Amino acid sequence: MFQNIPGTFDVLPAGTEGASMPASPAWQHIEDVVRKVMRRYGFEEIRTPALEPTALVARGIGQATDIVQKEMFTFEQGDAGYVLRPEVTAPVMRAYLQHHLGQRGGVQKLFYVGPCFRAEKPQKGRFRQFHQFGSETIGAADARADAETVALMADVYREFGLRQTRLRLNSLGSPPDRKRYRQALTDYFAPYENELSETSRRRLRQNPLRLLDTKIEHEQRLLEDAPRLLDFVDDGSRAHYDEVKGWLDHLEIPFEEDPLLVRGLDYYTRTAFELESGALGAQSALAGGGRYDLLAEALGADEPVPAVGFAAGIERLFLALEAAGYDFPPDPAADVFLAAIGEEAERFVFEKARALRRAGLSAETDLMGRSLKAQMREANRSGAPHAVIIGGNELEAGRASVKHMATGEQTEVAFDGLTAFLLEQRAGGQPAEAEAAQDT
Ligand code: AMP
Repeated sequence: MFQNIPGTFDVLPAGTEGASMPASPAWQHIEDVVRKVMRRYGFEEIRTPALEPTALVARGIGQATDIVQKEMFTFEQGDAGYVLRPEVTAPVMRAYLQHHLGQRGGVQKLFYVGPCFRAEKPQKGRFRQFHQFGSETIGAADARADAETVALMADVYREFGLRQTRLRLNSLGSPPDRKRYRQALTDYFAPYENELSETSRRRLRQNPLRLLDTKIEHEQRLLEDAPRLLDFVDDGSRAHYDEVKGWLDHLEIPFEEDPLLVRGLDYYTRTAFELESGALGAQSALAGGGRYDLLAEALGADEPVPAVGFAAGIERLFLALEAAGYDFPPDPAADVFLAAIGEEAERFVFEKARALRRAGLSAETDLMGRSLKAQMREANRSGAPHAVIIGGNELEAGRASVKHMATGEQTEVAFDGLTAFLLEQRAGGQPAEAEAAQDT
């Protein structure tokens, strides 16, 4: 028997025993809420392929990053190199440039929801195929675009009632600033090189900023006296950073300044932020993002295109929701189950179910020629509020017997009035009420 690849998972229907991940209705709920909040902020959905040219990711994210060095799923076919996208920002910028979306005028506010792939060691909250939602605001250099991105991200989590989050903020300046800072960091750590772990020594040589992410205690102590990136940031970036903070204060969005926050992707300039949940343990990052004014040029644009965005992990959101005891909306049940007694009734019911479905009702029937008792068991399991039972007598009278499952009460309804009856029941019944309550 085949099994799914470690670090990937199946999203199964509700009620599956032993499922490792939330069922498909929970995923739909997450996606619905994300889309709703994105729309409120005026973002439009974009869908890009899971497969991209390897060079796009290498050039976009940066050669020296962990993602490009060791986390990409790549393969060659013919002369072309393919990668399963490890993130969506570079693909969105590719699409923006390729389709000249800037010509639509104004700022392009785009969002996405979809799978990403990284060849990481699977563990709790860390997968090889995971799912992100995020936004990209392309064409706005103003600090308000950064603040709007943070507000949008924060409001998605608010919408789920998650308040126990921590927002960290920093400014990464521009590449020349970072170059000078990298040198200062390298100089600072040089005398301690022998005390550093193998990984940190490699980072010191290849990408010293990654040292700031160290989880090793004595390296963290060394960092306390290390030079600070913010002291190397030019006046323009510093003023922009102050404006971003000003707008966040204005929106009363709490944040902490974290001089050690650098993010693992090369394309960031100026603003960088990360949202954490205290409930997640080691994989505490819910979402992160920042400004990436240089990505467009890195991908071949003639001029810089200012842009800012965030990306969030859906699996991490599930973990945070689980820890918070979040109540997912009840799984949608069918409106009606149609049971048949005898072959003629089976033929009638099979056709009637389709007619009800075409009228917008969700109708289920038996597909196995089972006994009435078995069909009623199935009706119960389906959660449908009504079961329609049709046998020889009903066919003769042209009336169906409709059983209200909760009370056991039976009503006679003429065949040609059945659709109207069931639609009316649905409008006045439980499911419609549940939907309305959830919106407020
Ligand atoms: P990043 O672009 O690496 O900051 O990723 C953005 C968000 O995606 C993170 O904050 C996580 O929530 C999520 N994420 C990143 N990598 C993984 C992974 N391997 N498995 C699950 N979620 C991930």
